[in-house]
Parts: sequence; structure tokens; C-alpha cells
Amino acid sequence: MQTSFTITQLMDPQIASSEKILRACVHCGFCTATCPTYVLLGDELDSPRGRIYLIKEMLEQDRPATPEVVKHIDRCLSCLACMTTCPSGVHYMHLVDHARERIEKTYKRPVIDRALRAVLARVMVNPGLFRLAVVAGLIARPLAPVFAALGMRPVAAMLRLTPRRKPAPPAERSGKVYPPEGKRRGRVALLSGCINPVLAPSTNEAAIRLLNRHGIEVVIAAGEGCCGSLVHHMGREDEALSQARNNIDAWTHELEGQGLDAILVTVSGCGTTIKDYGFLLRNDPTYAAKAARISARTRDVTEYLAMLGLREAGTSAPLTVAYHAACSLQHGQQVLRQPKDLLSKAGFVVKDVPEGHLCCGSAGTYNILQSGLAEQLRARKVANIELLKPDAIATGNIGCIMQLASGTNIPVVHTVELLDWATGGPVPGPLVGLAKSGASAR
Ligand code: SF4
Ligand code: SF4
Repeated sequence: MQTSFTITQLMDPQIASSEKILRACVHCGFCTATCPTYVLLGDELDSPRGRIYLIKEMLEQDRPATPEVVKHIDRCLSCLACMTTCPSGVHYMHLVDHARERIEKTYKRPVIDRALRAVLARVMVNPGLFRLAVVAGLIARPLAPVFAALGMRPVAAMLRLTPRRKPAPPAERSGKVYPPEGKRRGRVALLSGCINPVLAPSTNEAAIRLLNRHGIEVVIAAGEGCCGSLVHHMGREDEALSQARNNIDAWTHELEGQGLDAILVTVSGCGTTIKDYGFLLRNDPTYAAKAARISARTRDVTEYLAMLGLREAGTSAPLTVAYHAACSLQHGQQVLRQPKDLLSKAGFVVKDVPEGHLCCGSAGTYNILQSGLAEQLRARKVANIELLKPDAIATGNIGCIMQLASGTNIPVVHTVELLDWATGGPVPGPLVGLAKSGASAR
């Protein structure tokens, strides 16, 4: 694609980086076929190619974001299916991240929208506040239809997504070290995160047991917190970079102290962002090198487990598992085979979901801010999963777990919970009934 940025514009490193991305696009349109919003809406401006044009115009003309740009960029899930499909290697993720930042800086959203985003950015990254919000959501859940009727769809969506059980206060894990069973084979840091400890503490508990059982010492680095991806996807770049720097400091302290073989992540949305810290902080002289080092050490937990090799399995029931590939894992990190291979080797019958490249609609805060589209995508995903008649759904991202669980009665668990169970751990909570009834492969 031809561009016409001025020399002065190109002196801005962000513009220079986006210009390279724009030039790589050859307008072929292959990406449109796998873009969920284009599949649903059929509008070129809701396709990757259309959005690329909108971003190009906004940046080239150095103008504030228009309502049209905001509408179509807001509808983008950042699922990155377009990056998997693109034959020209267009780095859409960095381009749309730049566009979201530009929107945040130059577009004044309606006051309610601004307030909602500010609350999400403040509450969701803080486990204590987030738990209080979930408890409040539980009480207000029956009012979801009232909020929907009043046109407050994001609030209605939040209430519908609220889990039905009150979450326990998140365990204090900061600085804790979990020693391995037997001889130590390695040492890793595990991201505790912000949403996971409230909505699915069982995920990291399973990951720690599983790693310890295989000789790996696990540390939750003192001071680590939200990875920054939630605010990053809202274009709130200063907050995202501040959260990234905080984690880089926490993990660098461990790296330079007792050493780390890897930084492991059980939420693939966070993993994609942490693997991108090197790019995000490339222009920060103090953090660029440290950020690149942290990104290079970061692995999805299943990448690391596949490399480690799991011990003889067989303590679980041979369930049929539909593997839902989270977009951030399959498109963002290109981690494709490892979770499925691990589950198969652990004795589960693993089935691929038809249209597996399409997002389930979760996408960070998307299922709150774009609830109509998110619900359509969830319905489509659930229908595809139910065709398989699985005993359970496995996935590697808390957002997907919550999104799918709100649309089906099939139990949804994290991949590591199944692997932990298969190698001697407890039955994952949502599967207790199934395990007792002795569900078997169909
Ligand atoms: S990230 Fe997903 S929703 Fe956005 S343009 Fe690419 S394929 Fe479409
Ligand atoms: S597939 Fe790639 S090169 Fe083709 S239009 Fe989409 S982004 Fe551009």
C-alpha cells in the first residue's frame, strides 16, 4: 500500500513503525474471510482491510479520530485472526494498538462511555476492587433486563457475565515460593494477574501443583500485578506502560536474583501482551532492554509444559474435551499444538471446534463494551462446540472461560486443570459430577 507521510511525520517512531506496517498491506482482502466482524456484519469497514484504510487516513492526515473511525475500530476484537491469515505479514496488532491510542488521545467519547471505561480501567486491574464489583454484580444480576431496557447495554452485559457464586477473597501470593516435589529441575515465575485470582483461582492453583509435581519451583514475584493488557486495549497507553514497567521490575529482580527459566502465564490474553513488552517499551531507554529480555523469557504455561514433558498420566476419567483455542493463544502467540497434544497424551479425547479460528466474543472488555456482537459470536461458538457433544470444554484464557460458561451448560475449565487432574491432582470443580458418574469417551 502506498503511503504519503511527510518526513516530519516519519520522525515520530510510532508513525514510522505504523507506516512500515501499512506499506506491507497489498489490499488482497484474504483477511476479510476470517475476520469475525466482517463475517457478522459484511461491511468492508468492519474488516481488517477496511480498518487499515481508516487508520491510514487518520494517521496520514494527522487528524483527530472521527466518529466513523471510532465506531469501526471499537468493533474490532483484536482477535488477530487477520494476522494468521495475512500472506504479507501485516502486523495488524501494532497498527490497531496505535489507532486505539490515537482515539483515546483525540476523541471525546460521550460522558457515560468515558465514565464506564474509567471504571473498568480502575476496577478490573485491582483484584480487591474487582471482587467487590463481582459481589455487587451478583446482587444486581436480576436487574440486567432493566438496564438493557434503559439502553444501558454494557451494564446489562456486565451483570449477565457475573458468575453465580460469590468469589472468595483472593489469596495473597505476592512473593511466595512454591517448592518442587523431589529434585529441582527448574525455576519459573508465574503471573498471578488481576482477574484470575478472583474469578478462577483454581487455574493457578492447578498450574502450581502441576509444575511442582514435575520438579519446577514456582515463584509469584513480589510486586507483580496486572500485565496492562486490559487498559492497553482501551488505548490507555500511559497506564499500560506503567503496569508493564512494574512487572518488568518485579521479574527482573527474580531473574537477577535466584534466576528464572521462564515467566509463565495461564491467561493467554496477558501472555500476548507480555510477549510484546519489548515492542511496547522499545523507545524507553531505561526499559527497552529489560522489556525485551522479559518478553523473550515469557511462555504460555502449555508451551513450557510441552517442552518439559509430563509424567505418566491416567488418574482422570477419559473425557471427550472440546479444545477452544483462545484467539490470543492461536493468533496472538501462534501456540497451536501444545495444549491439544498435552491433553491427548494425558488421556483425553480432544476434539477441534468447527470454525475454530473465530473469536468467542470475549476479547478483554469487548463483551461488555460491544455486547451485541459479543453475544452473537458466543452463540455461534457455543453452537459449534455443542455439535461435538463434549463432556467438557478446555481453553487457556479466563476471558474465554467466563464468556463460554455464560452461554452453555457444558463445564468449561482451563487446560492446566485437566492436566493437573490427569497427573495426580484433584478433579476440577466443574467436573466433579462428571468424574463421579464415570463419563467416558464417546
Ligand atoms: S483483529 Fe479480529 S476483529 Fe479485528 S480486524 Fe483482525 S480479524 Fe477482524
Ligand atoms: S490479508 Fe494482509 S495484505 Fe491482504 S488486505 Fe488483509 S492485511 Fe492487507
